[in-house]
Amino acid sequence: THFGYEQVPVADKQRRVREVFSSVASRYDVMNDLMSLGIHRVWKRFVIDLAGVRPGERVLDVAGGTGDLTREFSKLAGPQGQVILSDINAAMLGEGRRRLADKGIVGLPVVQANAECLPFADASFDLVTIGFGLRNVTDKDAALRSMRRVLKPGGRLIVLEFSKPLNPGLAKVYDQYSFKLLPLMGKLVANDEASYRYLAESIRMHPDQQTLKGMMENAGLERCQVYNLTGGIVAVHRGFNL
Ligand code: SAM
Repeated sequence: THFGYEQVPVADKQRRVREVFSSVASRYDVMNDLMSLGIHRVWKRFVIDLAGVRPGERVLDVAGGTGDLTREFSKLAGPQGQVILSDINAAMLGEGRRRLADKGIVGLPVVQANAECLPFADASFDLVTIGFGLRNVTDKDAALRSMRRVLKPGGRLIVLEFSKPLNPGLAKVYDQYSFKLLPLMGKLVANDEASYRYLAESIRMHPDQQTLKGMMENAGLERCQVYNLTGGIVAVHRGFNL
């Protein structure tokens, strides 16, 4: 089926996102390394450092997939703290649970949940993160409100997501990469051109740095700040529930 830059109906988008992640779950980590040339590790490291999780804190990793962020947070929160891995997709969570267990992390709660309506009580977390997840969410405003709602007073939300390259030269190269090379790599490596074309399209449609910052403020987050990484290819947004 065709899916271009036009707005697709909500049910279609949800189905597409489910298909993409169910289809890539088992190869997800390899593809991540390949497509980002390993740089996604640097982006995640930035988030982990910025998050500054302290022993005893309660952390929710939304759209946590295979659990890269979850794993690091869990080490930092320690036995007194609690870290929850959540994602809408059961196949991704299965991979996540398996990979955490491989690293010796067992008994960490894994919760299947939609970011738009999180099944947690108000004011239950010190930190909520969503890494490369928000662009897949249909109602991003609802997701931001829901993530703010579950933050304790003083808690922080960190969004890690693709954004808009700051420099036009870089934007051009990046466009070629994402719309030509990326689908080709997806085809060769995973025999799945469509998923990687979806990826490029979802990145292009995602709100830019300032728009997302405004959306966070509208959701009630305060002291919102943007950190551009790799020339704005990726941006990290942080806001507080004060
Ligand atoms: N955070 C992980 C990372 O950085 O490696 C996984 C990111 S992966 C690109 C995006 C994840 O978002 C997928 O696991 C997908 O199932 C999840 N997702 C998509 N829509 C969602 C929604 N509405 N609520 C929660 N998770 C969602």
